[in-house]
Amino acid sequence: MQKIRTRLAPSPTGLLHVGNARAGIFNYLFAKKSGGEFILRIEDTDLERSRKEYEDDAKEALLWLGLSWDSFYRQSDRKEIYAEYIEKMLENGSAYVSKEVEGNSKEVIRFKNKGGPVKFDDIIRGQVEVDTEDLGDFVIAKDTQTPLYHLAAVLDDALMEISHVIRGEDHISNTPRQILIQQALGCPTPKYAHLPLILGEDRSKLSKRHGAEALSEYKKLGYPPEAMFNFLALLGWHPEDDREILSKEELVSEFSFARVQKGGAIFDKRKLDWISRGYIKKLSEGEIIENVAQFVPKEWEGGKMGKAAKLFRDRISKFSDFKEEAKFIFEPKDYEAGLLIWKNASKEDTKKHLEKVCELISSGGDIMVYAQKEGRGEVLWPLRVSLSGLKNSPGPLEIIEVLGSEESLNRIRHAISKL
Ligand code: GLU
Repeated sequence: MQKIRTRLAPSPTGLLHVGNARAGIFNYLFAKKSGGEFILRIEDTDLERSRKEYEDDAKEALLWLGLSWDSFYRQSDRKEIYAEYIEKMLENGSAYVSKEVEGNSKEVIRFKNKGGPVKFDDIIRGQVEVDTEDLGDFVIAKDTQTPLYHLAAVLDDALMEISHVIRGEDHISNTPRQILIQQALGCPTPKYAHLPLILGEDRSKLSKRHGAEALSEYKKLGYPPEAMFNFLALLGWHPEDDREILSKEELVSEFSFARVQKGGAIFDKRKLDWISRGYIKKLSEGEIIENVAQFVPKEWEGGKMGKAAKLFRDRISKFSDFKEEAKFIFEPKDYEAGLLIWKNASKEDTKKHLEKVCELISSGGDIMVYAQKEGRGEVLWPLRVSLSGLKNSPGPLEIIEVLGSEESLNRIRHAISKL
């Protein structure tokens, strides 16, 4: 049996797209499930548009995601190989040099297309048949040294012994051309699996206006990589049961093309946030502190950080959220005195309740018992606002736990002085 070898082949002409990351995951899961190999190939034959920084971005973001490759190739390192095959094709007549415009010296290399139908059996889409007549003699190289995408990809897929080409559906129209080249070169045709398109929430093709498209942007926002991996694996695939939180190991063992859908997959950010919260909830206090460190000011470190990490663990969808959510803990927020007043309560009663709470904190009394008696809203609302300065925040007792009695008393006294 042929060894399973799959590849992700990004062109470094921009930051690695989440669609590429999703294709990478499916390639990885399928290869690992079958004990095969996953290859990363940088397709930088278009030297004008390719940038080293985008190659670096792709590698860094894929490693962050947990997609490590077994072999790495870069097409610009393989020029001699392509030149050799271009020469061969020119010799055996499967390609020819073509003058582009009469009287102009511009020349390209075209594939000698005999036309006729090309059939392939797509693992996801089923039988595909295309009449290749209309494709004409398409261009496969700029010159004898410079192959274009189709030729370089076909040669590499053959030389790297790629068994399965798993890529986005937007490439399905490229497949007939690539099969024609394979046939002309006597290369085997790999199996193809074209993955459903990724759509925005309005069901149009995912684009800039739907928000971040680059994998590295999700890294920057502080999503846990395991959550991103889990989320991307569910874009167009699901396990046999209805589990939605699956580890990488579980995904490897559950993956099957049989459950890849044909229709577009919606990139639902609320679902990403939901999955991400599931991962963040399980982290230890230390892990939260470590992960939020890059998003918060140095001055926040130590002191209240440990307790704050515990309090906000269940309230953030990504590590960068911590800065906004926990800000009032570290940097007291100014607010209007009116915010302290619960519904129709009076200023005097509000003041009285806050004074009583100060006494209770100092003497170790039970604030909840007092609040039950005097009215929860009447007591707990102004208390919570005096501690947070916010309309919405965690409950007052939880905040006191993080701030400690001394700072809590200071904040309450400040509130009393405002009234
Ligand atoms: N370089 C192509 C791209 O980034 C790869 C297509 C393929 O997987 O064959 O879209």
